[in-house]
Amino acid sequence: MEKIAYFDYASIVIFGLLIVSCITRKMLKGRQNRDFLILVVVNFLTTVFDILAVMFDRMNGGVAVEQIIFHTLYLFFHSITLPLYLIFIIDLTGSRHKTLKNPTYKVLMAIPLEIEGFVLVLNLFTHKMFYFDEAGTYIRGPLFFVNYLVAMFYLVACLIHLFKYRKVLPTIKFWSIFAMFPAIFLAVAIQFFAPHLLIEMFVCAMCFLYVSMVVIRPEENIDAETGFLRMGAYAENLKILEMTGKHVGIMMINVSNYRTLYRSLGYSTSGKLSFQIAELISEICEKKYIEADYYYLGEGKFRVIVENEDRPVILELARTIQNSLSDGFMFRNVEISLLANVCIVHWPEDIRDEKAMMLFGTQYEEMPYRKGVLYAKEVMRQKNFDILKSLDQILEDALTYRRFEVYYQPIYSVKEKKFTTAEALIRLHTEEFGFIPPDLFIPVAEQNGTIHRIGHYVLEEVCRFIAEEEFDSLGIKCIDVNLSTVQCLEKNLAAEISMILGAYKVDPSKINLEITETAASFEYSEMVKNIENLSARGFRFSLDDYGTGYSNISRAIGMPLSIIKLDKSLTKIEDNMKLISIGEHTIRMIKDMDMEIVAEGIEDEKTLKKFEEMGCDFIQGYYFSRPLPKDQFIAFVREKNSINN
Ligand code: C2E
Ligand code: MG
Ligand code: MG
Repeated sequence: MEKIAYFDYASIVIFGLLIVSCITRKMLKGRQNRDFLILVVVNFLTTVFDILAVMFDRMNGGVAVEQIIFHTLYLFFHSITLPLYLIFIIDLTGSRHKTLKNPTYKVLMAIPLEIEGFVLVLNLFTHKMFYFDEAGTYIRGPLFFVNYLVAMFYLVACLIHLFKYRKVLPTIKFWSIFAMFPAIFLAVAIQFFAPHLLIEMFVCAMCFLYVSMVVIRPEENIDAETGFLRMGAYAENLKILEMTGKHVGIMMINVSNYRTLYRSLGYSTSGKLSFQIAELISEICEKKYIEADYYYLGEGKFRVIVENEDRPVILELARTIQNSLSDGFMFRNVEISLLANVCIVHWPEDIRDEKAMMLFGTQYEEMPYRKGVLYAKEVMRQKNFDILKSLDQILEDALTYRRFEVYYQPIYSVKEKKFTTAEALIRLHTEEFGFIPPDLFIPVAEQNGTIHRIGHYVLEEVCRFIAEEEFDSLGIKCIDVNLSTVQCLEKNLAAEISMILGAYKVDPSKINLEITETAASFEYSEMVKNIENLSARGFRFSLDDYGTGYSNISRAIGMPLSIIKLDKSLTKIEDNMKLISIGEHTIRMIKDMDMEIVAEGIEDEKTLKKFEEMGCDFIQGYYFSRPLPKDQFIAFVREKNSINN
């Protein structure tokens, strides 16, 4: 019966378009993309030879040499499709280290393909796989079953592998890959019973089209500027690494002056710069024949997952990349200085899960530029990473079991010559990590939302203290309570604070709320509303940490602030005349605005005297006392205030 090749023509078009789209959509870097492209090219060639073979079959009048060549090539390319699909699945599930890197597995997997190849070559002489009768008609020989057997072998191997690692793949991807098997099985069965209907390659083409849309999805995964994979793919691949426990080296490359460059170069030019950096990184790896997956997470943050555990190799690579980026990087014929921090993570020795890696990424981002490669271990030590990693749970437990404590640091009034106020400062002690400073856990609490409950807890403790009979006898007029920026954005902050005070019958004048400069420089109407609302209810506000960050006093003026607290960095004046002059001018300016001033971080008598002279109203610092537990604070104030009275 005459073979119907229309399906093959359609397949050619689909495979051809897939190749073009792989190239135009920049699906060329990374193993999965490369595997997929090779698969599509092989299928394209299979279809081409299928068509050519059928074409020559139709030319009657004996056997043509081309007929033999094309049928042989068709069977050759056809036979390598399933082994390639197996490799694709292996790379998709990130399990190369457990399969192809194992010599026994590799040999075992190659044997059936080698047998098939051998029979195919031998067929040129023995004609046992296929042959032609005198009229030139193609006839399957007694060894043709080898093709089916070998295909069966790889099919089973693919399925076993897919099911073994199914947890690694998102459900949609798993089913898309799996769907290929029943579809092709059906097509082969149809073609077996109706050999003239050449639909197998067409079904393959449709399946690949589907895989390319659902599994590879470059729009979602590939960064348009650099051609590197994006954050989503990075997170997904880290998850795979977490599940498979594969050993790799991860290079984290951060251009720390990216924002400055972005601001001066503009959007499209900095996109070109990112592209050039990406090219340089991948070129260096390729030159050294290093297998790697490349990621661009935006804002000058590049990641390279290197398929090599060899530490000296990774170090050498990291050094080369850092040197090439830092030493005279040429961009548009101008030498620019890229301050690139390069950090090496040995996975899984240093970090073994995706969440920790992402957290580490944000910590590492804050590292100032340093010449010389960084090690994750070292950065983690500096950043208290072990604590940070567990902080979500620690905070949750501390809230549940009321493990937080509130300490009080006395604040000295220069005019009254005694301690008239105090700042409430939260303390957290854990069995595992000992004392955890608020500077470390407050930012995490702000991120995970526990800050609202923490704020509630502190205010409640403070109110309970103020409500005690003893409090009135201390001569402490009010207690300063820190409000985080995130709390200031809470819709019903004013109502909640008032409710807590109401429950303990505490007058708002007894509470002084501290907001930071960053909070004051936000223009969120919610925050302004909150502050104005609370101020109308009788609360006083101070601006904490003045002198850090972006001093935006002009914006702060618009808010109902009564006190400015000079940050420690402004009060460490020693004998530096310039710093003293800044202090004097700052104090004069604040006084002119009719606000009171607290000098924070006063540690010695000389500095105390200086700030008293300059006209500060209040002094806070270790010179008088560190923050103290409530009982010690009471004892301290009792003793000091009675002496000074
Ligand atoms: P802050 O509000 O500026 O608090 C002053 C910090 O300076 C306290 O650190 C205090 O112990 C420290 N300090 C006081 N005198 C001296 C001194 O003479 N020398 C030095 N070197 N340091 C001094 P602490 O308690 O570690 O708190 C750090 C920051 O954590 C606070 O800075 C505040 O921003 C935040 N924080 C503390 N408790 C709370 C809280 O209950 N809620 C919120 N939202 N933030 C809090
Ligand atoms: Mg404060
Ligand atoms: Mg402060």
